[in-house]
Amino acid sequence: MNIPKFDKGDTLIMKKKHPCGSVAFEVLRTGSDIRIRCLGCGHDLTVPRIKLEKNIKKVESPTEGV
Ligand SMILES: [Zn+2]
Repeated sequence: MNIPKFDKGDTLIMKKKHPCGSVAFEVLRTGSDIRIRCLGCGHDLTVPRIKLEKNIKKVESPTEGV
């Protein structure tokens, strides 16, 4: 199984939609719990890393290709 790597400032595209309909979340803080902010409604939430990793579809890094 491939565990996606991500860091603070990256954008995560999730498999599951937030209730607002957005699938894009910005990483605010990493650790054993990950703090993310929904880019659709601006709501922030803390999710255990293990739970979050299962839900990631894609990671978009803002520094990629620069
Ligand atoms: Zn939302």
